[in-house]
Amino acid sequence: MVRLITHNLLACHVKGCTSNNFPLEFKDVQLVPHESWGILRYRTKLPRCLDDDFLKTLHHVLLEIHVEEGIMICPNCKHNYPISNGIPNMLLAEHEIG
Ligand SMILES: [Zn+2]
Repeated sequence: MVRLITHNLLACHVKGCTSNNFPLEFKDVQLVPHESWGILRYRTKLPRCLDDDFLKTLHHVLLEIHVEEGIMICPNCKHNYPISNGIPNMLLAEHEIG
């Protein structure tokens, strides 16, 4: 799934495209909310004193929104990476591989 936290780690890898190549820009995206903020409470090492509202907000920002359909565009070379069923297609054509 393409989540916002994952998206920040994706960079364009077209041949010769080495600077200003992330984060990829979203275009025509369909965002889908995801559930279960409780994982931050029970599955992480965050301090136990954090209140539920804070955890819900944090979870929402980091994890709940994922992109179901759309396109990610390299800010440098404008290469388009399609997203389908929540899966980004980072594959390149033969001539684009460095
Ligand atoms: Zn690029």
